Amino acid sequence: MKASPRTTIPYWLAEPYTPPPVASDAGPAGPADVVVVGGGVTGCSCALTLARGGMRVRLVEARQVAGGASGRNGGFALRGGAPAYDEARETLGAAQAVALWRLTERALDAMAELAGAALRRVGSVRLAVDEPELQELEREQRALREDGFEAEWLEVLPAPLERLFAGGFVHPGDGALEPALWVRRLAGHAREAGAELVEGQRLDRSAIDRLDAGAVVLAVDGMTDDLLPELGHLVTAMRGQVLATEPLGDRLFDRPHYARGGYDYWQQLSNGRLVLGGRRDTSLDTERTSVEETTGLIQDQLDGFAAELFGRPLKVSHRWAGIWGETVDRLPLAGRVPGTERLWVAGGYSGHGNVLGFACGDLVARAILGEPPPELALFDPSRAPI
Ligand SMILES: Cc1cc2nc3c(=O)[nH]c(=O)nc-3n(C[C@H](O)[C@H](O)[C@H](O)COP(=O)(O)OP(=O)(O)OC[C@H]3O[C@@H](n4cnc5c(N)ncnc54)[C@H](O)[C@@H]3O)c2cc1C
Repeated sequence: MKASPRTTIPYWLAEPYTPPPVASDAGPAGPADVVVVGGGVTGCSCALTLARGGMRVRLVEARQVAGGASGRNGGFALRGGAPAYDEARETLGAAQAVALWRLTERALDAMAELAGAALRRVGSVRLAVDEPELQELEREQRALREDGFEAEWLEVLPAPLERLFAGGFVHPGDGALEPALWVRRLAGHAREAGAELVEGQRLDRSAIDRLDAGAVVLAVDGMTDDLLPELGHLVTAMRGQVLATEPLGDRLFDRPHYARGGYDYWQQLSNGRLVLGGRRDTSLDTERTSVEETTGLIQDQLDGFAAELFGRPLKVSHRWAGIWGETVDRLPLAGRVPGTERLWVAGGYSGHGNVLGFACGDLVARAILGEPPPELALFDPSRAPI
């Protein structure tokens, strides 16, 4: 199938979805203590913690739960943040880097309890394409082990990795997600805890400012600067593109793999399909956009890379794009929006939000419940850009 530019449905969202019975037809039922805007992993996690904490919560989603990046991503559930561990240790200091990595390890454990079969804790593989990247990986793996984190060097690369890569290591606690299934389950947990879900309702900033609620959480990652232009100097929209193949007879990859600093990533699902994304660095300027469309240029690159991995052209069944929020320092923004009383934000995960989004949604909810967790200081939205 030749790649062509268009908007397409992700493999993860291709299954028919019956939205749960919600109050959207009848209109919102009375005031809420907290309105959460955005039905991705962040908003659903936030709504779950708030509802369990006894708040009346309404989650408002413009499309469907998981219709944004949370149902359009590569399905990697990785600990840590977007920067490599040794870089984070240098810029944040050892204590803060350890706190961030431990936060995400705890989040992964909590996700595993909620996700059922939508999360497989199979670990992930970080690979180097050349000698300079190999040295980067050696520095990161050493730093992780020095600070007590598991990270296993791959002494021998199995086929076909040995043909294409210089080396790599395993993060044993990481996982492979079916992201839309996972976030719908999370939304189900939030609903069971008492949260109200309203799908198909887009709120603009003036509607948000008029909401009758004690607090409003903006959990819209790639659309953060749209709703909060005052944070536009810290976070902007970025596009990622992905493809999925038809089921493949040969199973080459038993866990998610990524290389070239995350510009290439892929996982093979239990049904044999390859889900592969990245190559954004082919055209960084055009991928700095909030337009959720595939392009022929990047999709052709993905086709080529998939063929390199399997040694033959592969039949592609799904192509899609998604938008995430990229911050200047590649750390999320989570906390009260500077200069406001009741607006909160959680987003800007810089392409690393499956676990961080779950964690940040929960952190913000706990702050609203009156117990601000110390980790929130790491993501202070009033920090100065570096
Ligand atoms: C192609 C791609 C690959 C990625 N791969 C990975 C990966 O493998 N691992 C990883 O950890 N991260 C990955 N990410 C990043 C990760 O998907 C996101 O950071 C994460 O899903 C963000 O979740 P969220 O809930 O904050 O935002 P989203 O999932 O984007 O949810 C925000 C929701 O808000 C809704 N919304 C927006 N504006 C409004 C409005 N005005 N009113 C009402 N609703 C609104 C949207 O419809 C959307 O559903 C990837 C992202 C992309 C795009």
